[in-house]
Parts: sequence; structure tokens; C-alpha cells
Amino acid sequence: MSLENIKTMLSDARTGQYAIGAFNILDYNSARAVVEAAQETETPVIIQTSSKTVVFWGTRAIINWVRELADSSTVPIALHLDHCRDLEIIRECINSGWTSVMIDASSKPFEENLALSSQVVEMARPGNVTVEAELGAIVGVEDDIHVKQQDAHLADPGQAVEFCARVEPDCFAPAVGTAHGVYKGEPKIAYERIEEIAKATDIPLALHGGTGLSDDAFKKCISLGCAKVNISTQLKYAFIDGFVDYHNRNNTEYNPLKVIDAQFKQLKSGIVKKIRLFRKTQAT
Ligand SMILES: [Zn+2]
Repeated sequence: MSLENIKTMLSDARTGQYAIGAFNILDYNSARAVVEAAQETETPVIIQTSSKTVVFWGTRAIINWVRELADSSTVPIALHLDHCRDLEIIRECINSGWTSVMIDASSKPFEENLALSSQVVEMARPGNVTVEAELGAIVGVEDDIHVKQQDAHLADPGQAVEFCARVEPDCFAPAVGTAHGVYKGEPKIAYERIEEIAKATDIPLALHGGTGLSDDAFKKCISLGCAKVNISTQLKYAFIDGFVDYHNRNNTEYNPLKVIDAQFKQLKSGIVKKIRLFRKTQAT
């Protein structure tokens, strides 16, 4: 299938009270793991790239890998640019074939965030590219965006309503207490804030900082309106551990394809588990 944007997959998920997994890839092997996991579970999926990954490989290589993988897939696949503050990178991704982009102007004052996010919506619409925008500050480090605990704040419901009405994003990422990276201690998710914003805006919400949340926390967030769940850190670990663990077990063997295959299998099995979890919404 050709690549899709995230509009239909997220609105279907929101209506059906499940969520679509959005997985940050690093290279062709990890992109292949995401697509094969989607195929095995017969579930739509979002492939995400950080701005750093885009700069590292260039847009041409990435779009070619992802298009080739999507062509041989029978489930909908979207290619989404994760947290981006650079309008030139956003423009390049839109022109290169990304079907969805995220503008992260959440560190700016409200009106400036609103203006930048609206500008990206205007850039994206003619090419049928969907837009995710963020409000509030999500703690942690994501793609060189550092937010310290004392600077993190939850999205304000009143501002969220105004922001969504004026920007009209296809997906909205309010800060709700989750964090990027690895959690130290129990995350304090503001469930009532998710519920309030979801009801007031009626736009599919994105849950950032998914790695390390309990299964019940995921199910609760999804049942309240999170239709897109981002998984990045988990894949970074599987990417490196899958590689290193194989070599540690077979340290006299120098067959790179076996190592790459072990990495692929570790990535894929973790992604399959998450996709299956996001389809279940009943909190236990
Ligand atoms: Zn994020």
C-alpha cells in the first residue's frame, strides 16, 4: 500500500477506543521491524523519525526504505516526523513524502506556539499531510530538547481548547505528566487532565513518553482518549541490546547478518507486544 497520513487511522482508533503505536525508527532494520510487526498483527502503524535521524540519514534514504516496506504491506503505514522545532526540516520532510509531521513549539509562549503550529498546518494541508502539535512541557530529553522537572507543566484545559480550535491539528499532544526517556520511580499521570482535554477538544490525543508505563496505565490513557502512543526509548534499548546480547552469547562468531537478524527479532517482538496491548482498552 502507499503511505497514508494519520487522520483516518487515528479517528478510527479514537472511535474504537484503541490506540495506534507510533514507533521511532533508527535505520532500515528498525523500520522493517515496525512494518513486519504491523503486518503480523494486521494493525495500522506509524513509523516515526526524530529530526536527528532525518539529519543523520537524509530524507531520500528514509523515504525510499519506508516506501519500499509499505509497498509490500497490506496494512496502512504512515511516516511521521516526531518533535520538530525547525520549520526547514518540516518543510523538507513534507516535500520528500512524509505523510505526517509534528511541530513542537511547546517551549514558546502560548501565542507564538499557536502561530508556529498554524503555520505548519498551512504548509502541510496542500499535500494532505497531517499535523501533530504540542501544548505544555513534557519532562525529559527527546531529540536534544531538554525539559527539566521544574520546567515541566501540564497542558491547561482552557488553553488546550483555544489552541485546538485555532490551530486545528489532526493530533494533539498535551503534556499530561508522562516523561521522555526512562522513568525514575512511578510516573504521575494526570488522568483527569487527559479526560478533560479529550472531551473538550474532540481531537485524537498523542501520549508521549510511553516507554516504561504499566499495561494498565496505557489502557487507562487509551480509554480516556489517547489514540496515538509514542514508543521511542524502548526501541533504542532493543536496538542496542539485541545486537550486543547476541554478540556476547556468540563472541567468537563474526557474522554480521546474524547479529542484525537478532537485533531485528528483538525489535519486532517488543513492537508486536505493544501493538497488541494498544488494541485492548479494558483496564484491569
Ligand atoms: Zn515525545
